[in-house]
Amino acid sequence: AVFNRIEQVDERIRAFITVTREQALQQAKKVDQARLAGDKLPPLAGIPVAVKDNMCTRGIRTTCASKILYQFVPPYNATVIDRLNKEQMVLVGKTNLDEFAMGSSCENSAFFPTSNPWDETRVPGGSSGGSAAAVASGETVLALGSDTGGSIRQPASFCGVVGMKPTYGAVSRYGLVAYASSLDQIGPFARDVTDCALLLNAICGHDPLDSTSAPYDQPDYKMSLNGEIKGMKIGVPREMMGDGIDAGVREVIEKAIDVLTGLGAFIEETTLPHTEYALPAYYLIAPAEASSNLARYDGVAYGYRSEKAQDMVDMYMKSRSEGFGPEVKRRIMLGTYALSAGYYDAYYNQALKVRTLVKNDFDRAFNKYDLLLGPVAPCTAFKRGEKIDDPMQMYLVDICTLSVNLAGIPAISVPAGMSGNLPVGLHLMGKPFGEEDILRAAYAFEQ
Ligand code: GLN
Repeated sequence: AVFNRIEQVDERIRAFITVTREQALQQAKKVDQARLAGDKLPPLAGIPVAVKDNMCTRGIRTTCASKILYQFVPPYNATVIDRLNKEQMVLVGKTNLDEFAMGSSCENSAFFPTSNPWDETRVPGGSSGGSAAAVASGETVLALGSDTGGSIRQPASFCGVVGMKPTYGAVSRYGLVAYASSLDQIGPFARDVTDCALLLNAICGHDPLDSTSAPYDQPDYKMSLNGEIKGMKIGVPREMMGDGIDAGVREVIEKAIDVLTGLGAFIEETTLPHTEYALPAYYLIAPAEASSNLARYDGVAYGYRSEKAQDMVDMYMKSRSEGFGPEVKRRIMLGTYALSAGYYDAYYNQALKVRTLVKNDFDRAFNKYDLLLGPVAPCTAFKRGEKIDDPMQMYLVDICTLSVNLAGIPAISVPAGMSGNLPVGLHLMGKPFGEEDILRAAYAFEQ
């Protein structure tokens, strides 16, 4: 059914870079045979899942939507892929993204842009736009994305699906192609909160292959879906409901506050005073880490190599100039500048200090509240081409999501209503490893 749907709509939506039909049908057949033989199957056995094309899949091309990796076939699986396999889930394909996950609209893909299934003239959000669009259009049941500054939550909001960024360290990053290693985190896309909790169960947990993976007792997230939120304390940071938020979006969030209040939550305004500094800090830290992580693409060991080079240095330069797109180059230049001798203290070090202030804001708020709430994005899905020539406009779309990554905390986008004909996501943010509170509230709200 999923492949029929892909055949029907993906020519227009363009959610997939690679569709793995043959392998998937074989995998599905195996699960079915096991089912018929009466084997006990894991909860997600046989369920179709799409994976953002920046997670390594053994024997299956992994491009990061970049010319520099367009023929790269990894010899190993990311840990999350092994976990999906262990669950006997069926990988249906690899989804489109902004090149190396840098962007908010999926327009920075070196291959093609993805469309928003609600209005095909609009973007699906980004960078995990392909995964969000694939779930929203019924081309898959579940999907994985990665979130460095909002790349799961914002496309989930724009496409009207559930998307969750877990606590930093909750899901292994082994085999996730690194963008900004101290911020990147893999997470689930689903049609509802229950499916999201099930996929989170499948991918969470400690992994010795990732030195930043946290050893912790992983709960069964499905158990937290009991609809019970009476007495839960929720803060609404006024910095996330200010003038920059579209009126239509604010209206949906205010209605959501009424719904949660009706369910017995105690909700009041609060403050995260350093929120306005999160964006400049993020756009120093993320490019700084990216400039270092992307140094490995030099045309030597793997990836694109220019044919035109005269000598070795020329080969590095031409391979990188021809292989990377304009946004990736912009980030490499920004990051290299911020890390260079003489500027390091003024920019990178300063940004790290601001990061601590942002984190302290959250710590303070979570002394008082179980959750924080606001919009995921200041707007609904915008038209393709509207912001692509103005990087600052594009960066501003992440204003509500970036601080969560700087602090390393978990957060979800859950569909909350419509503004005009377009979906709006409610942003619920929790304490480190507070995924259960987030899921409990999101589930109660969804009912
Ligand atoms: N849009 C942000 C950026 O371009 C966030 C991307 C992400 O979360 N991967 O960096």
